[in-house]
Amino acid sequence: MTDLRSLVGAIPELAPLDEHNQKLVNNVHPPDWVNPDPASRYNMVVIGAGTAGLVTAAGTAGLGGRVAIIERNLMGGDCLNVGCVPSKALIRAARAAADVRDAGKFGVKVPGGVTVDFAAVMERMRSLRAGISEHDSAQRFTDLGVDVFIGDARFTGPNEIEVAGKKLVFSKACIATGARAVTLPIPGLKEAAALTNESVFSLTELPRRLAVIGAGPIGVELTQSFARFGSKVTLLEQARQILGREDREAAKIVEQSLIRDGVEIECCAKIVAVRREGEVRVLSLERDGQTVEREFDQVLVGVGRQPNVETLNLDAAGVAFDLRKGVQVNDRLQTTNSNVFAAGDVCSPYKFTHTADSMARIVIQNALFFGRSGTSALNIPWCTYSDPEIAHVGIYEHEAAEKGVELDTFRIEMDQVDRAILEGETEGFLKVHVKKGTDQILGATMVSRHAGESISEITLAMNAGAGLATIAKTIHPYPTQTEAIKKAADAYSRTRLTPTVKTIFEKLLAWRR
Ligand SMILES: Cc1cc2nc3c(=O)[nH]c(=O)nc-3n(C[C@H](O)[C@H](O)[C@H](O)COP(=O)(O)OP(=O)(O)OC[C@H]3O[C@@H](n4cnc5c(N)ncnc54)[C@H](O)[C@@H]3O)c2cc1C
Repeated sequence: MTDLRSLVGAIPELAPLDEHNQKLVNNVHPPDWVNPDPASRYNMVVIGAGTAGLVTAAGTAGLGGRVAIIERNLMGGDCLNVGCVPSKALIRAARAAADVRDAGKFGVKVPGGVTVDFAAVMERMRSLRAGISEHDSAQRFTDLGVDVFIGDARFTGPNEIEVAGKKLVFSKACIATGARAVTLPIPGLKEAAALTNESVFSLTELPRRLAVIGAGPIGVELTQSFARFGSKVTLLEQARQILGREDREAAKIVEQSLIRDGVEIECCAKIVAVRREGEVRVLSLERDGQTVEREFDQVLVGVGRQPNVETLNLDAAGVAFDLRKGVQVNDRLQTTNSNVFAAGDVCSPYKFTHTADSMARIVIQNALFFGRSGTSALNIPWCTYSDPEIAHVGIYEHEAAEKGVELDTFRIEMDQVDRAILEGETEGFLKVHVKKGTDQILGATMVSRHAGESISEITLAMNAGAGLATIAKTIHPYPTQTEAIKKAADAYSRTRLTPTVKTIFEKLLAWRR
C-alpha cells in the first residue's frame, strides 16, 4: 500500500492518513501510476475525471472510440471525494441521530439519549467513500479501454493538449474541469483557515461552535448535519431567507426544521472581518450600523462555486471563457473551438452530478456522431437533502409570473397522505404546476422527507409528455408517500367535472336507474 504522505501537496487536505484514505488514493490517484504512451491521435481527449469527464470517457470507449482522460487530482472529482458522496454519508448519520432523539414519539424509549461519536461517523464516511471509489478508479477506466493520464492538462494548440510532458492530439476534446469553492473577499478569512467542502470532510473532531457562511444547499445540508451531531451551529446568510433559489414556503419549512435542530439562523448577515486567536475564530458582524463579535471554533464557507478555467491555457485552443461563468458553450455544448466541447460544472449554471452526467451524454452524441442534442431540452430536477428534503423540477411560480405563463397549481399537504401520517413525516407539501386549463406539467416542488426519491415520477412525466391525466390513471401502491402525486393528479381530474358535465352525468345515471 502506498504512503499517502508522498502525495501531500498533490492532494490538498485529504486527511487523516488512514487505511480508507489510502484505499481511496490508490484507486483514484495511484501514486505509482505510470502514464501510458499516447496514441497518435484520439477521437476524444477529456480533461477532468469528475462525473462529466468519466461519463464522456466511458461512453466514448464503450462505443469503440480511442479516448484519453486526464486528472490532476482525484478521479471521481468533487462528487466522490468532497461533495455528494461524503455529504450524503454524513446526512445519513445525522438522520440516525435525529431519529433516536425523536424516537419517543413512536413509543420507543432511549433512556440514555443520543451520543454521537463524531470520529466514528467520519470513519464510516471514509470507508464508504473508499468502497465507492472503485467505480471511478484509474484501473477500472484502463480496463474499460481508456488511456488514463495523471497530471495537469493544458492546451498547446487547437487540437493538442499537454500533460506531464506528453502531447495528446485529438479530433475532439471535452473540458470537464468542474468548479471549486468561491473565495470570499472577507478580510482575515484565509488566515483563519476557514473550512470549505475540500477540507470539512477531513475533520476528525466535532467543532463545538461552528459558523456556516451561506445558506444554499451545501451550507444548509452541512449545517443540519453538524447541528444533529451536537455542534452549536450559526448559519449566516446575507439574503433575507435561506435556500434563496427555492419556493419560499418550502424554504420556510426547512428553516423551521433547522431551528428545531438548535441552529441559530442569521439572515441579512454582513460579515466584515474574521480573525484567528489561537484556536478561536472571531467573526465581526455588522448589525443595524453596529459591529458585534462572535466566537467560533471553526468557520465553514458554503457559498458558491467558481469554474476551473484559469490554468487550461484556453486561449491557445481558441476557447472563450469567463472567470465567473466558466467555458462558453452553445446549446449543443460546443465551445468557440468547434472541436472542443465542455460539460459539467465548468460550463453549467446547474451544478449537479446528474446534470454533469446528462451533459456528458450530449457531448458524446454531438462530438462523435454529428448529433444535434441540446441542453435546453433537458428537464433538470434537483434536491436539497435537508430533513425534510426539497426537490424541484421545471418552472417556479415566480418564473411563470415573470414570463407571463398562466398556471393552474395543484397542492397536496403531506398530512393528507396516509403513509406520511403513519411515518410521522407529515411536514411538507407537493405543488404541481400545469399550463392553465390543461394537464401539461410545467413544474413541481415537493417538500417531504423523501422528496428527492419522489420527484423523478414528475420528471419522467414531463420528459414523456404525459400529463396529470396519465398520472391519475397510474396505480400507486398503498400506502406510499408518492400517493401525494396521485392525489394532485386526482385533484386535476376533478376539475374536468364541470357543472355542465356533472348535469349530463346526473341525467345519464337517472335514465339508467
Ligand atoms: C458539498 C457538496 C455536496 C454536493 N452534493 C451534491 C448532490 O447531492 N447531488 C448532486 O447532484 N450534486 C452535488 N454536488 C455537486 C457535484 O459534486 C458537482 O456538480 C459534480 O461533481 C460536477 O462534476 P464535474 O465532472 O463537472 O466536475 P468535478 O467533479 O469538479 O470534476 C472536475 C475534475 O477536473 C479536474 N481538473 C480540473 N482542472 C484540471 C486540469 N487542468 N487538468 C487535469 N484535471 C483537472 C479536477 O481535479 C476534478 O477532479 C455537491 C457539491 C458539493 C461541493
